[in-house]
Formats: sequence, structure tokens, C-alpha cells
Amino acid sequence: MKVYYEQDANLDVLKNKKIAVLGFGSQGHAHSLNLLESGLDVCVGLRKTSSSWPKAEKAGLPVKTVKDAVKDADVVMVLLPDQTQKKVYDEEIAPNLKPGATLAFAHGFNIHYKQIVPPSDINVMMIAPKGPGHLVRRTYLEGKGVPCLIAVYQDPSGKTKDMALAWAKGIGGTKAGVIETNFKNETETDLFGEQAVLCGGSAELIKAGFETLVEAGYPPELAYFECMHEMKLIVDLYYEGGLSRMNYSVSDTAEYGGMSRGKRVINPEAKSEMKKILTEIQDGRFAKEWLDECNAGLPNMTKMREETKEHELEKTGAKLRGMMSWLFKKNPKEEVGV
Ligand code: NAD
Ligand code: MG
Repeated sequence: MKVYYEQDANLDVLKNKKIAVLGFGSQGHAHSLNLLESGLDVCVGLRKTSSSWPKAEKAGLPVKTVKDAVKDADVVMVLLPDQTQKKVYDEEIAPNLKPGATLAFAHGFNIHYKQIVPPSDINVMMIAPKGPGHLVRRTYLEGKGVPCLIAVYQDPSGKTKDMALAWAKGIGGTKAGVIETNFKNETETDLFGEQAVLCGGSAELIKAGFETLVEAGYPPELAYFECMHEMKLIVDLYYEGGLSRMNYSVSDTAEYGGMSRGKRVINPEAKSEMKKILTEIQDGRFAKEWLDECNAGLPNMTKMREETKEHELEKTGAKLRGMMSWLFKKNPKEEVGV
């Protein structure tokens, strides 16, 4: 698989273009500020009432309403929450998009599940950093970058891939490496990863481990350190050098115990459930359920958020983290000032 780096991308492709970044949240602030500092002509599109409006202005960016930002733009990057993109597209983007303009996304959800269907004269591309926006900003400031996926969905101009590479370069991505994919693969693997492994699977694994120890009468503080706190130390080893780096670093007892017992936790039944989860993503059932949940005002999401907050793991963790003075306590929004 080809990986694109600095020399493979030409920023000039975007130099004479007017760029609008819609949204100033996690990804929006990082893309707009990085592109501005890369010397490009960027403005931010927001709602008049948005609390981000003064923040983006203070950061040195011109800010307009979504309608005005889109009207003038050659390239429009949609960095709004996935569940609001369709409405904003229908009401404010589509009626104002210049013929031949380029529409960009950082995740393929709305294009892949046909919530947004751009006209055929519009170039459609994706630049998806494989990390949260605050890391995209922080690594850029350090002269580094976050790896990105790029994809082209529609290419009437014949230049969409060059634009995607230029965008990735402008936000720092080509310093870390850029891989080309398509909207389907990015969307489906991203959803699967967050559901089965990253956000869903890991949280439930930690919770089940914590509950098992607490129900057996061990102190919750001990259970928290074993099942939650140490998770980061182990994941850092995976990140640095894979499973073998982890096995090399832990004791032989931990290595043997882990290899001989782990499969009983993530057993064939767990894997067959993963396959079901993937099927629901592939056939659109998950997307429909999530959009219905949004339209209903998030009844299940609210309930699940409440349950998570009330879990003993969270209460124990809050107490213990308060005592760990070396831990990063600021919320990430304060860190970057947005
Ligand atoms: P976010 O929730 O952090 O920010 C959304 C921004 O949109 C906010 O500035 C909000 O004020 C603004 N907004 C909301 N509704 C609006 C409206 N109707 N009109 C104008 N502005 C509006 O979102 P995010 O996490 O940055 O996600 C943006 C996109 O990036 C999504 O497609 C997401 O899948 C993708 N993405 C996110 C991450 C991540 O780590 N957060 C990583 C990769 C890709
Ligand atoms: Mg992801």
C-alpha cells in the first residue's frame, strides 16, 4: 500500500483557492488554524449564535455565517457533528455551493449512507486524520502531524486527489503519512473500530473486570488501578511496538497468564458478536438506528450517559485521579484555548 509523505503533496493546488471550514470544534479548530498557518486563505463558517465565533476570531480567523462562507468558497470542509450535517447541507450548503466547487469531509458517514448527495459537478473528497482534533493541532505546532486517510468520491475536475493530498499536507498529515482509501472502507472500519474495540469493547472490558473484582470483595480503588489506570501503560506499549513489545515489557507470569486466559474472555462468542456488529454497519442498520435516535432527541443516549456517570468505576476514578497530582487535569478545550 502506498503511503504519501511531504514530497508527494503540493500545497500550491490550494494556494489560489478560497477555503471554508464549517465548524470550530475538535476537528474544525485544528484544520482551520493549521491551514491558516500553512499560508492558505481560510475562513470559518458558524452559526451567528455560536460560542465559538469569538474564539475563532480571537485565534486570527475570519468568521462568517455558514451561508456566506459557502457562497464565496472553492473548497468547503464540513466539520460539523455527523448527525447535523444533512440538515445544514440541505438548508445552507447546497443552495449556496458554487458550481464546480469541492466538498470535503473528515469522515465518510453522510456520503456513504447517502444522507448527503452532492450534484455531479461537485468534487467530493475526504481527509480523515486518525486522531482527535486536539492532537492534529498539537502535533502541527510541534512540527509533526497525525496520519490521515484520504479518499475521492467524485472527481469532475480530475484534480480532487491532488487537493486532498494538499489539504493533508496543510494540516500536517503528510509529515506522519497519508494513505488513500475510499468512503466505504473508511466509514465502515471507523464505525467498527469505535464500536467493537476502541470506545465500546475497551470500556466494557474495563467495566467487567472492575465489577468482577469489586463483586468478589476487593477494594474498588485496587480494582480501578488494575483494570483502568494500568490500561494506558499497556496500550502505550502496543502503540510503540505491538503485542511483542508489551509481552517483552511485562513479567513472564503476566505474559503466560495473559496468553493462556485472554482468549477465554474474548472467546468465539465475543468474536461472533463482533461479526454481527460489522454486518449492522455494512447493511446500514446502525446508521439508521443512530439517525433515528438523533431525531427522537437522544432518549437512549441520555440514559446510557447517565448510567456511565453513575458507575462505581467512574466515582472511584474521579476520587483517585484527584489525588494524582502529576496527571493532566485540564480539559483538552482549555489546553488549546478553544
Ligand atoms: P465537534 O462536535 O467537536 O464540533 C462540531 C462543530 O460544529 C462545533 O463548532 C459546533 O458549534 C458546530 N456546529 C454544530 N451544529 C452546527 C450548525 N447547525 N451550523 C454551524 N455549526 C454547527 O465535531 P468533531 O468531533 O470535530 O467532528 C467533526 C467531523 O470530524 C465529523 O464528521 C467527525 O466524524 C469527524 N472526525 C472527528 C474526529 C474526532 O476525533 N473528533 C476524528 C476524525 C474525524
Ligand atoms: Mg475513528
